[in-house]
Amino acid sequence: MMISVDEALQIIERETPPLGSERVELAHALNRVIAEDIVADTDMPPFDRSQMDGYAVRASDTQNTPAKLTLIGESAAGRGFSGAISPGEAVRIMTGAPVPAGADAVQKIELTSETEDFVTIHEPTSEGRYIVPRAAEVQKGATVIARGELLSPISVAVPAAFGYANINVAKQPRVAILATGTEIVDISSKPNPDQIRNSNSLMLAALCSQAGAIPHILPTAGDDLAQLKQIIAEATQDCDILITTGGVSVGKYDLTKAALTELGAQLYFEKLRLKPGKPTVFAKLNKTFVFGLPGNPVSAAVTYYLFVRTAIRLMQSARETQLPAGHAILTGDVKAAPKRTTYLPATLATDAAGRLLATPLRWQGSSDFTTFAQTQALIIIPENTTIPSNTPAKIIHLPTP
Ligand code: AMP
Ligand code: MG
Repeated sequence: MMISVDEALQIIERETPPLGSERVELAHALNRVIAEDIVADTDMPPFDRSQMDGYAVRASDTQNTPAKLTLIGESAAGRGFSGAISPGEAVRIMTGAPVPAGADAVQKIELTSETEDFVTIHEPTSEGRYIVPRAAEVQKGATVIARGELLSPISVAVPAAFGYANINVAKQPRVAILATGTEIVDISSKPNPDQIRNSNSLMLAALCSQAGAIPHILPTAGDDLAQLKQIIAEATQDCDILITTGGVSVGKYDLTKAALTELGAQLYFEKLRLKPGKPTVFAKLNKTFVFGLPGNPVSAAVTYYLFVRTAIRLMQSARETQLPAGHAILTGDVKAAPKRTTYLPATLATDAAGRLLATPLRWQGSSDFTTFAQTQALIIIPENTTIPSNTPAKIIHLPTP
């Protein structure tokens, strides 16, 4: 039975379990999915903080300028002033330092002049000026990042600020990658006229790493049922996901499905109303989820993005399991295959009016990986429809490194 992409995703969502979490040093948590809410253990800022180098004062003392105030001390970042300011007094203060008790404003250094024991304020300041009040950014006890989010190079600063030297992150799915096909040879070999270098395995391993999984490339298998059965049986002993490429269509030597069936795997789907990627297989064997992707590199990449990436994210309990979707104006007509939702590779640009444009790639079909390599987005064309140039279409953005 042919099912839709949405139905396939529902099955994957229903079947794929979260793998649980582990505790790691924050330095090792980058690009991992956070498995606990990050809670502020202090107010931020933890004290009334000066935004300027200058003088902490009582604003009312500066209303008639020049105002000559008695300098009673200094508050530097990391070395605050312990006393309090009384009327007619000021404290020299640095950016990031705590505003002393009694002061309610700062005047910046450019508008002052200091002489021994005194500072003259040349322009009035107002209550609260140049002060970030305690807890203005974050209150102690607030959740600052929710579980399920990805720790990015920027957001890693947040758990760092709140003392998470160690952090619970989602376990990383272990993904075995098996290229199949008697014609497939290693990257380093010089192929005979009827052979093809294995470009899928490295691409899929890189895609899996990008989604937070730990990939492991297996030696290539030929189109041989007994060999396929043995390799698949072994591979599914100790990985969470097995990706195979090739051998899932209807040719005489397309044996992946037969191998899975004979091994007793549970097949969830094997045919989709999708282009490229009609013969994509999703199965389970020995607690391992198996994605049988088509061998054509473009089909393998598209079905990886739609399905395998989703499963990898689900296993990590990520909040976002789908690539970001959006809309773009098409710069050419596009047409879906009959009865198959079509994902068309495209490049993106912005026009002078700021509109996002999607240009379908001129490609030769599912095997044209060299052109596909420029893809920035996939245009989604619902089955049986044509979308004319200059109209908006739904797209999904492919991740950049
Ligand atoms: P299949 O899905 O086995 O019918 O393969 C479809 C096409 O993809 C064939 O032209 C294969 O040679 C090609 N192909 C299969 N596996 C790979 C691979 N690992 N790397 C590059 N091309 C492949
Ligand atoms: Mg083949």
